[in-house]
This record gives sequence, structure tokens and C-alpha cells, in this order.
Amino acid sequence: MYGSIRIEPNLHSKPLPNLDENLGFGKLFTNHMFMMDYEEGQGWHDPRIIPYGPISHDPAAMVFHYGQAVFEGMKAFRTENDEVVLFRPDQNAKRLNRSSERLSIPQMDEEFVVRAIQELVRVDAAWVPKKKGSSLYIRPFIIATEAILGVRPSMKYSFIIIMSPVDAYYDEGLQPINILVESYYARSVQGGTGNAKVAGNYAASLKAQTLAKEHNCAQVLWLDAIEKKYLEEVGSMNVFFKINGEVVTPSLSGSILEGITRGSIIHLLKEWGISVSERKISIDDIVQAHADGTLEEAFGTGTAAVVSPIGSLLWNGTPMVVNHGEIGQLVERLYTTITGIQCGKLPDTFDWLL
Ligand code: PMP
Repeated sequence: MYGSIRIEPNLHSKPLPNLDENLGFGKLFTNHMFMMDYEEGQGWHDPRIIPYGPISHDPAAMVFHYGQAVFEGMKAFRTENDEVVLFRPDQNAKRLNRSSERLSIPQMDEEFVVRAIQELVRVDAAWVPKKKGSSLYIRPFIIATEAILGVRPSMKYSFIIIMSPVDAYYDEGLQPINILVESYYARSVQGGTGNAKVAGNYAASLKAQTLAKEHNCAQVLWLDAIEKKYLEEVGSMNVFFKINGEVVTPSLSGSILEGITRGSIIHLLKEWGISVSERKISIDDIVQAHADGTLEEAFGTGTAAVVSPIGSLLWNGTPMVVNHGEIGQLVERLYTTITGIQCGKLPDTFDWLL
């Protein structure tokens, strides 16, 4: 499929930095990147691993004007036995195709996408850090490259994968965050692009995020766009609550991104015999649970942080403190389990590692 992957080694490779030092997130990139092109009539072709570096495009390239761009985010880990593993890459390849479908970008063979990621990770394997909680963040993305002004699907694309060694999201362990419940701006609507990982969704979210920061909140909790009532996501994470012993998360309404961490957590909770339900949750349900003392835990989930405990929710100017602003037992157990599987400390019972 698409031919074999050509490898052009980087003859001007940067020396490997000290991966035990502060890496931050997404600041440092490895020596190689993967690239493959698409042209109408020819399909996807010329898969290659080439030196990491700037790419040049015509200023009329459609991505600059009409935003036809999708991406993924995933991680490779170095296990305690020094093996390099990927966490559920098949799920990312599937979601990439779903996002592409929404933006009229041509589909790709999912097995090939996983193979391309594996091959790039193999070439730059030395960049996968070992420090506790660290990983190699992998960013596959597709952009429309045809140079023409006119609103229609592009006839040319590039699929690119870049990689960045990153620290654990929370350097000093889990930290509860403050969240602003956003009552004006919306992230997505039914029939929109909220359930796809498209670049424009993130551009549209920045304004609310800036306002949240002004309120000393790390992220916003998005409500549905029509009634401004039902919970959707928290920043770029899915959201979970533990209310009176039951774990709830908003159902996939069409405007929510189907997180791979979300799916893994639902799977774990079911395995553990903890009641979990995907349903519509209104902000009033949360206010009520907070008032009657049944709101036990709240947390966001995503590749970057795995889980992120919510310490308080600012709604209508009043903070609702969750679990005394402390890290809950469930969030801690989920974090320990998922990171334990990722670093090889716990058995990979569900075949999540490749
Ligand atoms: N929602 C949004 C909007 C996101 O960008 C992400 C991160 N990809 C998530 C949820 C969590 O998804 P995942 O668990 O696959 O990282």
C-alpha cells in the first residue's frame, strides 16, 4: 500500500539532548519527520522519512485560506525494560480518518498510518525519554496544499508526522485545576466539527480560554451551543464526574471529540465493576450534586495529562469546590493504572500497547 517508506537520514542531526532534563511540552523536535503526498488521480504516494525541517508552500495553498487541516495526538513510551511502545495507535489512525472524512480529505489505510508512525519512532527511538512520566509525543497531521483560491475540497494534500520528547504534564504529580464554566462562547454545534480533530476547532476555542485564564482558571468547561445547559468537554479533554458512587460522562452527542483516554477509562471502570454511564449531564445536575454533597470527584481526560483532577468549577461567578480541592481516589487509581500500563509496570491486559 502506497509503496515502501523511503528513508533519507538527517546528515545534520542535532545532538541528542539530555532527556532527563526539563523537556517542557512540544518545544523540542526529533531529527526526522514522515511525509506522504496526495494528488487527485494518483492517490497517496511517496511515503518518506526525511530530515526534520521547514516545509515550503505556495501562499495560495488552500490550508492557509480555508483551514482544511486535521491532526492527531498520541504518545510512545519507553518501558522499564527499555522497550519502545505506542499506546492504542490504531485508535488514533481511525480517528484521523474520521476527522478527514468530515473535512472532505481523502482517507488513508489505517494499518499503513500505524506502520508509518512505528517506522518514524524506530528511526528516532533514541529520543523516547525514560524519566518517570515522560514520553515521545507524536503529532500526525494533514494539510490541503493545492494552490488555488476557491472554496472546494483541495485536490492535493500532505500527511506529515512530527515528534517531540515531553515531560509528564504534571511534573510534581497530579494537580487539581480550576475550571470556568463557559456560558457564552461555544466550541461546537450538532452537525459542526466538534467530533473531529480539526485545526479550526482549536482556533475557535482560544478566546474563551484566554478569558478563563483571567479568572484564574486553567480551562473552560464547554456547554452545548443551543441550550447552554448540557456539559460537553473541558478544554481539550473529555470530562467525567463521580456522583453518589456512579461515574458519568457526557454521551457522544456529535459535538464532542471521542477521546481515546475516555474510551480506555470507561473500559477500566467497567472491568473494575464501577458503575459508569454515558449520558446527557446538565450543569444543573452538577450544581445539585454539589449542593447535596454527592459530587465526589470531577476530572478531565486526554493524552497529554491522562487525567486532570478538577478542584473547582466557576459557574455564574461562584466557585463550586470539588472534593475539598483535593485529588480523589478514583482519579488517582485511573492515573496509576493507565501510566502503569504505559510504562510497563502493570500488565497490558487489554492489548493497548503496540
Ligand atoms: N477533546 C478534545 C477537544 C481534544 O482535543 C482531546 C485531545 N485529543 C480530547 C478530548 C481527548 O482525547 P484523547 O484522549 O484521545 O487525547
